[in-house]
Amino acid sequence: MHKSLLLAITALCASIVSAQSPAPAPAQGKLSVHWEELTGADFRDAIARAQGACLLPFGILEKHGPHLPLGNDLLNVRYVALNAAQQEYAVVFPEYYFGQIFEAKHQPGTVAYSRGLELQLLQETTDEMARNGCKKIIIVNGHGGNNSLLPYFAQSQLETPHDYVVYVQGITRSAQGEPKHKSNPATDMHAGESETSMSMIARPDLVHLDRAPQESGADQARVKLPEGLYTGIWWYARFPNHYAGEGAAASRELGEFEARTWINGIVQAIRAVKADQESLRLQNEFYERSKHPLDTPQ
Ligand SMILES: [Zn+2]
Repeated sequence: MHKSLLLAITALCASIVSAQSPAPAPAQGKLSVHWEELTGADFRDAIARAQGACLLPFGILEKHGPHLPLGNDLLNVRYVALNAAQQEYAVVFPEYYFGQIFEAKHQPGTVAYSRGLELQLLQETTDEMARNGCKKIIIVNGHGGNNSLLPYFAQSQLETPHDYVVYVQGITRSAQGEPKHKSNPATDMHAGESETSMSMIARPDLVHLDRAPQESGADQARVKLPEGLYTGIWWYARFPNHYAGEGAAASRELGEFEARTWINGIVQAIRAVKADQESLRLQNEFYERSKHPLDTPQ
């Protein structure tokens, strides 16, 4: 879907919603979803309007085949998160790309912060968001290399008490009814048909489709291990070019479907999080019981 069309639909939805709901304060319709664009006073209104729901779109800086930009995941995840927040209001944190990407350190342009700093920076970021009223934080992941880090981060929120809840929204680009893929879905993982199609919607000006065949995105399968046995070098063993799939097979049609699906998934997540009154209550119960486990009913 064209950005302009999406914005037009968003504006239409917003006018339908405001026509149906009780009269909003005059300034509300103009509140940006961008944290960094709000004034101090508007930020306070924005947090109230968002019911404490904030998005932390999480990208990365790494090579994406021979044809996509280093910031591809950051650009794509911000595109869908910002569109979703305009449909279902939430405050969106500025650019964040300090995630897990050790496996691309041999490629130009990769920024791979150390393990300790990744976790500490993320904790201090969500702590600061919560101190400013974001009591329900949805980390919207845009990078496959964060798929283990983020659930671990969410789990580790139980280590010590927090007055907010961390949710993690995965990459939800595909769904039933999507246009037929031209390349093999089994290896369509990184800068391949699917991701390149999404990039053609978010930032078509940065997609160099003619360069996609310059490298191979084939699975080199250089380490053979039984299923269920994990080792960190698996990705390098399979895709040392940081390219998995066939970017040249990308199409705007597939990209429009993926963008729509991903945006809808985030909209549903924001609505679910706003409605969720149980997670924080149970967290507080858990923190209290964890102080004296021998008193927990058996
Ligand atoms: Zn990517």
